[in-house]
Amino acid sequence: MEKNLHSPRPILTHLNGDTSWLLQFPWPQHPLSHTYYNLLIDPWFKGVQIDYFSWFSRQRHAVRPAVESIEDLNNYLADIENIIHERCSPLAHSRPDAMAKGKNPYIDAILISHEFTDHCNEHTLRELDVSTPIFATKAAATIIRRWHHFTTVQDISNFAPPDRDWTDFSPPLPKWLGFARLVSSLDIGHIHSAVMICYNLQHDSEVKQPAEAIIYTPHGIKADSLSQISQATPSIRPLVLIHGLHEVFICGQQVNLGAVNGLEVQRSTGAKYWITTHDVRKILTHILPNFLA
Ligand SMILES: [Zn+2]
Repeated sequence: MEKNLHSPRPILTHLNGDTSWLLQFPWPQHPLSHTYYNLLIDPWFKGVQIDYFSWFSRQRHAVRPAVESIEDLNNYLADIENIIHERCSPLAHSRPDAMAKGKNPYIDAILISHEFTDHCNEHTLRELDVSTPIFATKAAATIIRRWHHFTTVQDISNFAPPDRDWTDFSPPLPKWLGFARLVSSLDIGHIHSAVMICYNLQHDSEVKQPAEAIIYTPHGIKADSLSQISQATPSIRPLVLIHGLHEVFICGQQVNLGAVNGLEVQRSTGAKYWITTHDVRKILTHILPNFLA
């Protein structure tokens, strides 16, 4: 365990078999906090997914999520920190009570990739403390602000070098962590888009160090929409691709691009690891099942 704690790379955990993920970044010096910076991605633990209208499609998980509530997840994260603290006390710092924030102090931030209810799930998100910072794509951020629940909701901007780089994202994120969105100009609804999660392994915010990136694209993205990654400043090296295997069509429109597209994206980005997502079976009710291909 002590050896693993020295790795600067994050730990990725699949939380619900669908497309809810946890990324745990080791704090570089963790001067005042717990050992990991915990980023929760597209949490959907409870409730239903509604496509377009509730009379058209309602979906729920066919497989019980490993984590069934925000409170469950926060308790798991607290257990991890306590175990580390007990076994590796020279390396670990437990979170002082004075630093505790809200009712889920071990969940540091939320990332939302799409505005759809299987990614931006109000039922699950409302379980979070109001102080939990939310980073969301523009349409999702607009929806979340309408709830008047969270104090900090920031848009994830489209990645368009040379005007931006991932490091000029903003607090409350640590300076060695940033997000950027990749879209295709021909995809009006941007369902086929990606969020890049970039992190600087040197954790040096003063120097423009090259970054590694996790490319998260639960519905898939065309490979030619990713060419701008090579123009990033500081440079970005894609390490992990998170992209589904199954092709899904609704009313003739392709919603999930599937494995063949995933291969093209992996070759284009050179990502060393490919992890599947959004391939789980769900229970559909109302009329949508008649339109699925
Ligand atoms: Zn989805």
